[in-house]
Amino acid sequence: MFSDNQLAPYAAQSAQTKGRRFSEPTPSSRSEFQRDRDRIIHSTAFRRLEYKTQVFVNHEGDLFRTRLTHSIEVAQIARSIARNLRLNEDLVEAISLAHDLGHTPFGHAGQDALNACMKDYGGFEHNLQSLRVVDVLEERYASFEGLNLSFEAREGILKHCSLNNARTLGELGLRFIEKKQPSLEAQLTNLADEIAYNNHDIDDGLRSGLLSESQLMEVDCYARFRREVDHTYPGIAGRRAISETIRRMINLLITDLIQTSEQRIADYAPKSIDDVRALPTMIAFSDHMHQEAKVLKQFLYENLYRHYLVNRMSNKAKNTVRELFTLMLAEPGLVPPDYRVSAHDDPQQTQIARARRIADYIAGMTDRFAIREHRRLYQIEEV
Ligand code: MG
Repeated sequence: MFSDNQLAPYAAQSAQTKGRRFSEPTPSSRSEFQRDRDRIIHSTAFRRLEYKTQVFVNHEGDLFRTRLTHSIEVAQIARSIARNLRLNEDLVEAISLAHDLGHTPFGHAGQDALNACMKDYGGFEHNLQSLRVVDVLEERYASFEGLNLSFEAREGILKHCSLNNARTLGELGLRFIEKKQPSLEAQLTNLADEIAYNNHDIDDGLRSGLLSESQLMEVDCYARFRREVDHTYPGIAGRRAISETIRRMINLLITDLIQTSEQRIADYAPKSIDDVRALPTMIAFSDHMHQEAKVLKQFLYENLYRHYLVNRMSNKAKNTVRELFTLMLAEPGLVPPDYRVSAHDDPQQTQIARARRIADYIAGMTDRFAIREHRRLYQIEEV
């Protein structure tokens, strides 16, 4: 039996997992959460992350973050925080690597477009789709659908969820209804995600030329460290200066998160993961850091995510998703057989099921596949 005995008593313990949807024998040579992570790494959806993006479209450059490299960065940050807090590193790694599996192509633009398309058919939420990928859509095992992950991994993957959807999810949805917390591992991964994307978006924004360093000097936490770097290494410039600045920012955020969370854990004194679920959030930034991160986010929103060149690409991305969806829903004969639905007695139910499968098909596409599929459907020269 695998032991987690260096972990804090309030950490998620593999031996006390709430289990899997389909029960399986306990693994002999790894923990339950290592098994989750291993299943995620071998999944099809995980490989697709390589060609899906967040801010830039995949073909815009080879050095920008993809959802795959983003997920690996989240795992790195989450693991280092988990180790400091004596939380379960295997679980945070599994959650990190799976947290974006349900994302559509083309980042938020794709997600917004697909949600709008699905308005009359139950909507589209990327967190819920990540859960659907690991619960239903992956086809790898003979005895069950999906990856049959542990409750704790699924709980971490489902970061947010509307109340309506929560009611359909049984035990997993309960915390949204009862307003309880997930494990500390889930709370932590959520903030590791934020640390990762805020910082790598600065890096990618500068690399792309859409952001300039002089603009960033208006952001206090960037300016402070940039000056420190200049002072320590006089004459430093270019990529090295940016990199030295960003790594200091990441380090500060991680250190602040560890210290603040340690204090909150000491104050609330949970004895077990059940206590954690019933108490307020314990993984948090200090108020000051939270404020600084907010300023940075606002800066990125105004200057990068809403940059007119990003807007142009997002607009094309939305059109691509919308046109794929609209055409396939109107002409079910164009949908690949795996994603077709046989007709139900009730035509409305048939239409809802059809829309859901088309959403699954589109959400699973990589950026380049979506672009190609759009061409195949709309341009007669393409086959
Ligand atoms: Mg993410």
